[in-house]
Amino acid sequence: MNTEIVELNEQNIDIEKLKRAAKIIVNLGTVVLPTETVYGLGANALSSMAVKKIFLAKGRPVDNPLIVHVCSIEMMGDLLQDPLDLRAKKLIEAFWPGPLTLVFKRSDKVPLEVCANLDTVAIRMPDHPIALKLIELANVPIAAPSANVSGKPSPTMAQHVIQDMDGRVDMIISADRSRIGVESTVLDISLPVALILRPGGVTLEQLQKVLGKEGVSLDNMINDVVDKPRSPGMKYTHYAPNATLQIVRGDKENIISYIKGKIYESVSGFIGVLCSDETKSEYQGAHVISIGSVHRLEQGASNLFAVLREFDQIGVDVIYAEAFGEDEMGLALMNRLKKAAGFNIVDV
Ligand code: AMP
Ligand code: MG
Repeated sequence: MNTEIVELNEQNIDIEKLKRAAKIIVNLGTVVLPTETVYGLGANALSSMAVKKIFLAKGRPVDNPLIVHVCSIEMMGDLLQDPLDLRAKKLIEAFWPGPLTLVFKRSDKVPLEVCANLDTVAIRMPDHPIALKLIELANVPIAAPSANVSGKPSPTMAQHVIQDMDGRVDMIISADRSRIGVESTVLDISLPVALILRPGGVTLEQLQKVLGKEGVSLDNMINDVVDKPRSPGMKYTHYAPNATLQIVRGDKENIISYIKGKIYESVSGFIGVLCSDETKSEYQGAHVISIGSVHRLEQGASNLFAVLREFDQIGVDVIYAEAFGEDEMGLALMNRLKKAAGFNIVDV
């Protein structure tokens, strides 16, 4: 398939180019679009045929449902079983447009492929001028999972998308690096107590401020490998770099001496170390990449996928990653890191 690559500037959007993208969506084709979380692989969410193309391009398992992106509250109307309740309205008011996906009971207008046969649908409004304008021009909700080949780190830069999707989609919109750099938080509000199915760009602490401490809980599947999680996507290997990745968890001194020992023992010398600004000078004789300061983990979360792809480019055999704190954005960061490592964690 011939993929048209179109560059757009979010400060000064060329509407004619974006109209071409919208036409592709209307004609049931596929367009990679920038969002504030990660780049998404979009298609008309109301068409089974269009949505099937997403699964094909990504090699995504069909039992992993998609997030539907809207540009207005009205656009959700047809997708929902019930009118919005007070809790939904509060969350929308506080976090939309933004990196919070809400899971609602769905109507029968939602194609089964989008919701993978579940009785719910996941919806969000992206906080990105190009994404919002594209949805508006196409005038249909756009289903868009992350625009990576299934299993690979999500794309936060246009070059990642081109690596993964050139030849697999009709158009790629190339724009700036994704601002948040980690996917949306998925929050199930079809339940009496809202449940975080996937931590992401909106933190547990932020949700607690709106819903109260009792009003939101964390799915305990988030930190485990399970066959049948509520958020089907959580069961698959994800974000995995080519190298073996091990997370090293414990006191800072123990982490450093464990990783130094591994570098010392290594014969190949092709070792990667994923660490922080505070510790990067500790390691010599390895490919050391910092994700940023431990005091700014939102930046670390934003850098993680690009760093994992960088290790792939260097071609290291094994990566040792320091474990980070799990407060605020640390929760999403560590969730992605653990999944990338296939839960290969050593406590030191
Ligand atoms: P991605 O768009 O690739 O970041 O993945 C979308 C995530 O949302 C996956 O983890 C899905 O399992 C989850 N998801 C989408 N729809 C639903 C739904 N109806 N119920 C629960 N989780 C969902
Ligand atoms: Mg994904």
